[in-house]
Amino acid sequence: MAGEPQEDCLFCKIVEGHIPATIVRETETTVAFRDINPQAPTHILVIPKAHYENAAALAAGAPELAADVLRETAEVAAGEGLDSYRTVFNTGSGAGQTVWHAHAHLLGGRGMQWPPG
Ligand code: IMP
Repeated sequence: MAGEPQEDCLFCKIVEGHIPATIVRETETTVAFRDINPQAPTHILVIPKAHYENAAALAAGAPELAADVLRETAEVAAGEGLDSYRTVFNTGSGAGQTVWHAHAHLLGGRGMQWPPG
C-alpha cells in the first residue's frame, strides 16, 4: 500500500537502518544520504521515509511530503555550501529510475550541461 514500508525496497531498508548509508540529514519525514555511485562531487539522495514508488506517486498521494522532500533538498544543498545545484527525479525505467522508492538526486560541486543525457 502507498506510504507503507515495502519488504523488498532498498531505500525502506535504509530508512529502517537495516542497510548502512552515509546519512547527511534526517527529519521526521525525510532522510538524506550520499549516493553510493556519485555522479558529481556532491551527490546526495533525499527521500521520504514513507514508501512511494516515484515522485509522481508521492506528489499525488502525499503532496505535503513531496514538499518536505523539496524543502529538505534545499536545506541539504545549503548545508553542503552549494549555491548552484541540480535536482533530478528519474521517473520510470526509460528515464533511468532503478530504485522504486521516490528520491531526489541532489547534484553539485561541478559545472552541469544542458540538456542532460
Ligand atoms: P535512480 O537510478 O534514479 O533510481 O537512482 C538510484 C540511485 O541510488 C543511484 O544513483 C544509485 O547509485 C543509488 N544507490 C543504489 N543503492 C544505494 C545504496 O545502497 N546507498 C546509496 N545509494 C544507492
